[in-house]
Amino acid sequence: MLFSPGCGTDERNKQKSDAEISEGRTRFGIFRRAKNVSSKLRNSIRNKLRRRNDFGVSEIEDVSEIEELKAVDAFRQALISDNLLPARFDDHHIMLRFLKARKFNIEKAKCMWADMLQWRKDFGADTIMEDFDFTELKEVQEYYPQGYHGVDKDGRPVYIERLGKIDIDKLMQVTTLDRFVKYQVQEFEKTLAVRFPICSAAANRHIDTSMTILDVQGLGIMSLTGPVVEFIKVLQKIDNDNYPETLGRMYIINAGPAFQLIWTIVKPLLDPDTTSKIQVFGSNYQSELLEAIDASQLPGFLGGSCTCSNEGGCLKSDKGPWEDQNLLKVIKVLYVTSPHAGRVLWFCTAFSSWFFQVLRILKLNLLYVDKFKWRSTHYAESNHII
Ligand SMILES: [Zn+2]
Repeated sequence: MLFSPGCGTDERNKQKSDAEISEGRTRFGIFRRAKNVSSKLRNSIRNKLRRRNDFGVSEIEDVSEIEELKAVDAFRQALISDNLLPARFDDHHIMLRFLKARKFNIEKAKCMWADMLQWRKDFGADTIMEDFDFTELKEVQEYYPQGYHGVDKDGRPVYIERLGKIDIDKLMQVTTLDRFVKYQVQEFEKTLAVRFPICSAAANRHIDTSMTILDVQGLGIMSLTGPVVEFIKVLQKIDNDNYPETLGRMYIINAGPAFQLIWTIVKPLLDPDTTSKIQVFGSNYQSELLEAIDASQLPGFLGGSCTCSNEGGCLKSDKGPWEDQNLLKVIKVLYVTSPHAGRVLWFCTAFSSWFFQVLRILKLNLLYVDKFKWRSTHYAESNHII
């Protein structure tokens, strides 16, 4: 694998410098000012969108989207020229996330991308959904309650973490840091491969971000030391480096006065693009959460009406549009076999009555995926969806 000059930790640590943020803003400023795009360019890019878009249902809304497309196209060419674009990752939205994470600096995004591919190879991320079994999940839930539960009003999956209830000593008695990290990576992969596509199909728009609720009740400043911090740092690094721009918004709830004070001090030092997604609340957060999430999708302990009593509690249920086991099996097959799984999934859900026929055919001959890919394009064009 080829690495560009400048790839590495030192370089990465410089990403969020003021200069770069300023550069990114200027670049966007140029994007927004570029209003006189010729119809020829527009049509050319529209054609490219037809090829690249996962679901084939987006319309170009404004000039900034056209500039994003141009940037993704340039990034794609740069990756191809360095042999850094496996078919599985040849996806407009994945490339856009990495570009956004590096403020549209193609060279820096390419470094990040190359590091991500190398990490996936070393960690075994490509096959972790199939070959890792986190048998201790039930015990882990006791000492670190967290999990996905429902969708917000924008259709994004909601991830809830009760960090304040973490008991790091007992947690490390039932699992190891390595195994817990593997479990988290498996969940990241499941979110990208299963939750986002199914949420996209359910909401009829592209979804590649989630909402996080971080409950810090009981988390004192003193508990943010040693193993807990190490634990958070390891997971955050994997998340930031390999799954960038997947946080839609985060609500930190039950924050005590000390936590809120620290947040007020630290916030101006962090990347404004990140802090703009985070809101911190004390104990009166329920109405804010209910503005963002329907009561039926929100656990009772957070002010919603859901209890998941048959599943042993909301954080053990993995409730969501993705819980349909048949759908899950199909998505797993599609993602292992097709880099254009999103398009195929969209087609499958658009024709739900054909869904199980598709499953049957896929089981018989995976080459049928190509035929359905063609049909999905054909259907979208004939209905003026693209
Ligand atoms: Zn529930």
